[in-house]
Amino acid sequence: MRGKEATRPAADVRSRPDASDAVHHEAVKTEAVKTEAVTPEVLKAEAAPVRTALAVWWRTHARDLPWRFGRTTPWGVLVSEVMSQQTQMGRVVPYWQAWMARWPDAAALAAADKADVITMWGRLGYPRRALRLRECAHVVHERHADTVPCDYDALLDLPGVGDYTASAVLSFAYGRRVPVVDTNVRRVLSRVFRGEESLGGAASPLERELAHLVLPADEAACVTWNQSVMELGATVCTAKSPLCDVCPVRGRCAFLKAGRPGLGQRRTRPRQRFAGTDRQVRGLVLQALRDLPEGESTLPRARVEALWEDRFQLDACVAALDEDGLIEILPGGAVRLPRG
Ligand code: SF4
Repeated sequence: MRGKEATRPAADVRSRPDASDAVHHEAVKTEAVKTEAVTPEVLKAEAAPVRTALAVWWRTHARDLPWRFGRTTPWGVLVSEVMSQQTQMGRVVPYWQAWMARWPDAAALAAADKADVITMWGRLGYPRRALRLRECAHVVHERHADTVPCDYDALLDLPGVGDYTASAVLSFAYGRRVPVVDTNVRRVLSRVFRGEESLGGAASPLERELAHLVLPADEAACVTWNQSVMELGATVCTAKSPLCDVCPVRGRCAFLKAGRPGLGQRRTRPRQRFAGTDRQVRGLVLQALRDLPEGESTLPRARVEALWEDRFQLDACVAALDEDGLIEILPGGAVRLPRG
């Protein structure tokens, strides 16, 4: 996860795009656009009843996540979006609640110790996100007087914020008319309006165009649209097993009408197994540090070595954690969470 944002896997894991997935809300001109099968005018006309059906469905089926429905600040929305990258939203909830209770705004997080931030990140995975979020808090605190900017370019300048997160904050926190496009959204739009699978990987020009074409003109409707399409992709129109029988747009879905051709087909490689990977080893080292008893902050070398049999892999992972600023290696090979 070296880019500004990480890619997310499919289904309920609210797959977030990386930089290559970027869909800048102003970058696409829609006037002269045609998809392979239908004109922009036809697409816009087809989108209207889909929007209505989804808005009705959203009112009764939206998950009651604590950062939704105007119950948090723009900072809370931004935190939820960063935490949801590569992590199921249901898993994020307790972490988000604990995090926001401890550090309710950018100023509070900016003042937090790195070790505490890494510890609070817990098992959310990809812990570099925690440090990037803290860096982001510093910038919001120092350059923006603790207020998350409501300008796309200013958002994009924040550490760890890419096109997806900038668009999500603009839409979900500030109600702006921008498409919010992640893997789930691309899959739903491609299926409903084009009758094809979105094959993953980088967003295609057609997918970008489609997201703009079907966007409602009204700002408030646009927020509901973004949220409901994303929710449908996370809970109903999943990658491998879409629940077409209970889908609110089944009567208007080109993919269902076509017999769901190539269901589950993807351009990207299957996800790497976790067992035995460097991710697992890095996670073991960090978890051992988080689990140290009160008053202890250092994991002696002998206990580090006991964590993983393959010494070469273990040492490479410890070095990488140090390089990423997630741990510090002390003389003799003991390790600790970073200070400051
Ligand atoms: S009908 Fe099936 S494929 Fe079409 S949007 Fe609904 S769940 Fe997805």
